[in-house]
Amino acid sequence: MNKRNTIQRQMVLNTVTELGNHATAEEIYQRIAEKNPQISKGTVYRNLGVLAQERQIRKIEIPGAADCYDHIPQTHYHVRCVKCGRVFDVDMELIPNLTERIGDAHGFDFLDYDIIFKGICPECKKAGEKNTKSRESRNEAGEKNKEGQQGNHENP
Ligand SMILES: [Zn+2]
Ligand SMILES: [Zn+2]
Repeated sequence: MNKRNTIQRQMVLNTVTELGNHATAEEIYQRIAEKNPQISKGTVYRNLGVLAQERQIRKIEIPGAADCYDHIPQTHYHVRCVKCGRVFDVDMELIPNLTERIGDAHGFDFLDYDIIFKGICPECKKAGEKNTKSRESRNEAGEKNKEGQQGNHENP
């Protein structure tokens, strides 16, 4: 591997680590391009692939969405927010010997697995509560107006 490739690979690895948020290839490329506009998208994507294969980072394949990249290469579990699509680590112990528990392998060699829970992240939950609340207070104001009260009682 020549020096330029080494530098680029290191740059990609550093960016995945620095972002540390299960970023997509596109997000990783965008971050690198901010400081290094000369680097091509193909180079970043290719290096992500190599780093994942070398297990320096972990590629998480998300059904129906872009793959994302994790600076923690060891197996761990994730939760994906169904609202914003962001992926977070789940703080739990690994289920031991999961692949050994498979009864009939049907001829497969099981290599690896990803567990991705579905959920709503705290930020989206908060945003959702706020929306419901402001809808509720609008309804209340509406009710009051129907009752014939004068003026605008809505809080700022
Ligand atoms: Zn969210
Ligand atoms: Zn992770």
